[in-house]
Amino acid sequence: MADKVKVGFLLLGGCAGCEMAVVDLSEKLVDVLQHIEVVFWAPTAADVKYTDLESMEDGFIDVAFIDGMVRLDEHIHMANVMRKKAKTVIAFGVCAALGGTAGMGSLHDKNDLFEKAFKNTPTTDNPDGVFPQPQCLVDGKYDLTLPAYEDKVRTLNQIIDVDYYIGGCPPHHDHVAAAVTALLTGNMPPKGSWITNGKAVCDVCERNPAGKENGQGRAMVNQILRTIEGEPDKEICLLQQGYLCFGPITQGDCGGLCLKVNIPCRGCGGPIPGNHDYGAQALSTIGSIIKNEEITHQLMEKYPNLAKFFYRYALPSGTLPRRM
Ligand code: SF4
Ligand code: SF4
Ligand code: SF4
Repeated sequence: MADKVKVGFLLLGGCAGCEMAVVDLSEKLVDVLQHIEVVFWAPTAADVKYTDLESMEDGFIDVAFIDGMVRLDEHIHMANVMRKKAKTVIAFGVCAALGGTAGMGSLHDKNDLFEKAFKNTPTTDNPDGVFPQPQCLVDGKYDLTLPAYEDKVRTLNQIIDVDYYIGGCPPHHDHVAAAVTALLTGNMPPKGSWITNGKAVCDVCERNPAGKENGQGRAMVNQILRTIEGEPDKEICLLQQGYLCFGPITQGDCGGLCLKVNIPCRGCGGPIPGNHDYGAQALSTIGSIIKNEEITHQLMEKYPNLAKFFYRYALPSGTLPRRM
């Protein structure tokens, strides 16, 4: 037991799908468990309390996987506690690494989000407009507290020092297995790196025109289609057909899963190494292959909220959004 690698899992603001990717290791998990000891897994899998983590010695955990974005004061507190307790911290999945889909909430005022979520949805019955409060006195004697809501979504590395990043929403279980193997064998990249196979989604996509025998190459995009328009040809690059696919700029550790079911890549794998602003890169890439101004107008008409389209998984990590 003493030689086992001590591992902790902590979910912040996320859906726990990243942790399901660990469970999806299935029989590989049995092999992995011979080499690791899970000493903390909250709040998803184990009946532990935050005080269990707070009372551990600093550096007790060898590797912490933290998934989910940062939106509550509780997330900030627990991320800082885990940072003290763990020698190595991995931002696990695109929420922790880049902010994830919930990061799009940063484009809205937090009061508007509360109005929408707790008052104005068709299924909400809240005529007095009662909203969650961080502190509440019940029956004049029970002082209850709820985590407080921060103004914006933040990525894990905007709160604590992060050693490694793993993309995906959730990460593909084969990639999780490869990452765990790299950890156990000490075969890790330099601190601050993404753990990735280094290939873009296009590199692993069977439709890539560059890989075709006739070497047809890439053509300019001469129409913009949404996925609800028509049915894409299953053999031809989606981008060439006008369906906007972020395969050229996204890490392909998923093996190009979406393309296999005829859906364009939306970028959950995170940026290929060297790019630090995913949305700006997406805008630049798509902009550079649009044929003319008419097609640019098509893009703006069909995607009226381009900020959310390009930054679907990465808004809190972008340079421009952080200065808004
Ligand atoms: S990255 Fe995706 S799967 Fe993981 S917590 Fe966020 S939303 Fe869930
Ligand atoms: S742009 Fe999309 S469809 Fe085209 S080769 Fe790349 S991943 Fe495949
Ligand atoms: S193809 Fe793109 S959006 Fe789909 S799972 Fe892979 S990285 Fe994520």
